[in-house]
Amino acid sequence: MIYYSTNNKELTASLETAVTQGLAKDKGLYMPERIPALPQAFFNNLDKMTLQEIAFEVANSIFGEDIPASDLKRIVDETLCFDIPLVKVKDGIYSLELFHGPTLAFKDVGARFMARLLQHFTQGQKKEDINVLVATSGDTGSAVANGFLGVEGINVFVLYPKGLVSEIQETQFTTLGQNITALEVDGTFDDCQRLVKSAFMDDELQSKLTLTSANSINVARFLPQAFYYFYGMGQLKKLGITKDIVCCVPSGNFGNITAALIGKMQGLPISRFIAANNRNDVFLEYLETKAYKPRPSVATIANAMDVGDPSNFARILDLYDHSHAAISDEISGTRYDDEQIRATMKRTYEEEKYLLDPHGACAYQALEDGMKEGETGFFIETAHPAKFLDTVENAIGEKIDIPLPLQEFMKGTKQSVELSKEYGDFKAFLLQ
Ligand SMILES: *Cc1c(COP(=O)(O)O)cnc(C)c1O
Repeated sequence: MIYYSTNNKELTASLETAVTQGLAKDKGLYMPERIPALPQAFFNNLDKMTLQEIAFEVANSIFGEDIPASDLKRIVDETLCFDIPLVKVKDGIYSLELFHGPTLAFKDVGARFMARLLQHFTQGQKKEDINVLVATSGDTGSAVANGFLGVEGINVFVLYPKGLVSEIQETQFTTLGQNITALEVDGTFDDCQRLVKSAFMDDELQSKLTLTSANSINVARFLPQAFYYFYGMGQLKKLGITKDIVCCVPSGNFGNITAALIGKMQGLPISRFIAANNRNDVFLEYLETKAYKPRPSVATIANAMDVGDPSNFARILDLYDHSHAAISDEISGTRYDDEQIRATMKRTYEEEKYLLDPHGACAYQALEDGMKEGETGFFIETAHPAKFLDTVENAIGEKIDIPLPLQEFMKGTKQSVELSKEYGDFKAFLLQ
């Protein structure tokens, strides 16, 4: 499969180059040149296949030309080492719980797949190490660090704003050691992101080190997120639900929903999508006004969606040939402020006995508000509620249990390197 840049279809790369570069040289995002349809027989069988079997078929349709089937099977099996339950919240609304992985967030799927794919490409080659840079406001850092932990030939640098991530999140990437280095930056998340971007644009650094990104701009992180939409649809089919299905995705950088849209283009019978947002609503504004106006993010209690200029918007435009009409036909949007998110968590906990995290709460509310007569909805519960402990406990007015994997992380000892927000310091650190 050939990958092209969203800025210029003539700028192409192999899968290996796309994964080891992250972003194309012209700052575009890589897209697969073809989106292969999956056969009807596969869809007929979705309810009888395991998660690993489904994921392999989907992975093989996209990555099959570039990776031998036996290797791809192993990569898929090692990636999906946990359950993804579909839970009924109330009549007509289901939660696809993607928080049963090692760091209790959906990003585990993409991060683990990317780590193993990168390892596949570097194995046996006596090249210098690959350095993965990732800026995080919390959840990305933990999923990427844990996904890459112990992978030979790859060093991971997690940049995070000092004092601005929750204690639970911090322990998930600062206590690991081995090939994971946590960089505690004296600044904000935007400063961390700027440092990473400057490194990618620094020709001198690029000539000395192999650098790539593990954010959802990387095809190896974003595409595997299609797997679980197929699985979710299979689970609904098991319940006899096969049509008029609406899928709602709590969205920040829009990588997750873009993978779902690609799944639909491969034949997934989802009738429409809702992108749920918090107060960072540039996408909703685009749907309503046709104008895309990126702006600095505002802080909310659903902080993994605090994104003012979603990086995968370029991919959505590309998928629909920049047609606002085509995009609005497929996706609608919603926006909820912190007060509404808290109210949804509390009401759903009390009335449905279902505990939502702040991101899932946006998605659940969007389905409640936006579903039409006869439709069935499912949403992605993107993180375990205990990862946002204070917010959730405050909203519902009760203490909640911390799952064992999180308790284990909290026992570790924090190791981090303190850095200023000056690019020169970061560069010197990488070169030493
Ligand atoms: C990353 C994240 C999101 C947003 O996903 P995108 O692919 O960036 O749209 C939503 N919820 C949680 C908990 C996340 O960590």
